[in-house]
Amino acid sequence: MTGPSSRYDRQIRLAEIGESGQQALRKAKVAVVGLGALGSVAADLLARAGIGELVLIDRDVVDWSNLQRQMLYVEKDAANAVSKADAALQRLRQINSEVRCHLHAVDLSHQNLISIMQGVDLIVDGTDNFATRYLLNDYAVKHQLPYVYAGVVSTYGMVASIQPQSGPCLRCTYPEPPDASQAPTCSSAGVLGPAVAVIAGMASAEAIKILVGGEALHGFQYFDLWRNQFHAMKATRDENCCCCGKREFDWLLGKQGSPETQIMCGGNTVQIPAQKSPPDLVQLEEKLTGTVTALSRSTQFLRFTHRNLDVLIFADGRALLRGTEDPALARTVLAETVGS
Ligand SMILES: [Zn+2]
Repeated sequence: MTGPSSRYDRQIRLAEIGESGQQALRKAKVAVVGLGALGSVAADLLARAGIGELVLIDRDVVDWSNLQRQMLYVEKDAANAVSKADAALQRLRQINSEVRCHLHAVDLSHQNLISIMQGVDLIVDGTDNFATRYLLNDYAVKHQLPYVYAGVVSTYGMVASIQPQSGPCLRCTYPEPPDASQAPTCSSAGVLGPAVAVIAGMASAEAIKILVGGEALHGFQYFDLWRNQFHAMKATRDENCCCCGKREFDWLLGKQGSPETQIMCGGNTVQIPAQKSPPDLVQLEEKLTGTVTALSRSTQFLRFTHRNLDVLIFADGRALLRGTEDPALARTVLAETVGS
């Protein structure tokens, strides 16, 4: 078989998927949260597999340091600092125009999560932080949705399929997130591109298996590609788990993990959360004309240079300040320009 009608032929030939599995994938709506290394590989694989709808969420813009492993992006995305959500959408449309993509260039929070996740059947984790993972775990447990956990740093990573209807949640095994200041990140420890591809490939396979009714992974699967270590870690449901046992959804209620000023994974960028109601970017552009340099506006953000920092103000009021890892300097620059 050739031509566009053969697009899914090799996948339908798999006894594990077949015509009925392909139909299930076509009907599915999957959220990929974070479009960095893991998320961009997963979104690519899921679009090629023919998932009907993809909800794409990322708060960052493409940087040159991303190109080593974030496979949806190319040099011009980094040169123009395109938002990852926008760049991913352009690329995924070229890969598979049949997939309906919903784009969100935001920092996922307990406030915007409910509307963004409307109608989603499964969540794939492409995040770089535990606050968002615990928020996703709360949401998945509350709404009984499968959530494929994935994490990678250095040469190793881990995948788990969390299926709240039948098994443990993330917090049954890890009741609290690790101390963020102690946990290695891809900016502090680096990350091996092939390790990303393996972990994201496995997470995507888990998503496909769950959607077509296959048997998903039990517990956590750990890989270290450099040391050739591969092992499974059992996970069992804890009846006293705060989340799936007691159904206390602190992250979803905003009691924990509320947004704060942070240095982005990838480095040299500070994110400052929205302080008040979202700004009118057109009015803000007028206000800043003549006081800052390199002022420009796109559909996603207003961008300018001030004190040698590349400043992006998003439509939701969030700001990214590129060229520093000093939160105090970032807040000063924002106060001098946008106002505090
Ligand atoms: Zn639990």
